[in-house]
Amino acid sequence: GEDTKHVRLVPSEVPNICVTPSYFRTLVLGSSGVGKTSLVQQFTRADDPHHNEDEENWRPGSGHVVSVDLNGSESTMEFIDGANVDLDLESYQVDAYILVYSVSEPASFGQAVSLLLYLRLDLGSDRPVYLVANKTDLVRQSRVAAAEACRVASSHDCHFVETSTALNVKVDELLVGVLSSIQRQLTPLAG
Ligand code: GDP
Repeated sequence: GEDTKHVRLVPSEVPNICVTPSYFRTLVLGSSGVGKTSLVQQFTRADDPHHNEDEENWRPGSGHVVSVDLNGSESTMEFIDGANVDLDLESYQVDAYILVYSVSEPASFGQAVSLLLYLRLDLGSDRPVYLVANKTDLVRQSRVAAAEACRVASSHDCHFVETSTALNVKVDELLVGVLSSIQRQLTPLAG
């Protein structure tokens, strides 16, 4: 339908996974102003010269759904902006989490780490989690060390990605990473 974007992404590092077309939901969480809305918008208008027509159909608030073709298998990914949900995370059945903070806001990093600990330790979730350091274009205002964030992430089985939604840096990689993590969890034999 009009709410669906079509993107084709074929990262070389992802193993060839064979799964039936599937629908996956990812909850995007983080402090206000860190770039959650911008990130989800970038996901749903990912660069694809073959699907320029769809871009014209995209409207803010019309649903955050993107169709991703990864190594010949098509998946539909829905992104839920955590700013709009009542934060009763336990009741949200999702396949993955993205925890966003801004490198210019140390408090937002603290909030993202709290969310990570809550998901892993309190909820006991084993879903894929991505800790996302956004606004990396604000180099001079960066106040959160990537090494520290990376250390916290890896000690809680969490991926770490540095993005700039403003400059569209590492946004597609994040999208593919989340999808391949979900698929790996569903198909353990694929490695
Ligand atoms: P949300 O409250 O988490 O949904 O954050 P928004 O997506 O609304 O973004 C908040 C503000 O940060 C907006 O003015 C965005 O334009 C800006 N912003 C988002 N991502 C970036 C980024 O990567 N770099 C810079 N410099 N600004 C960004």
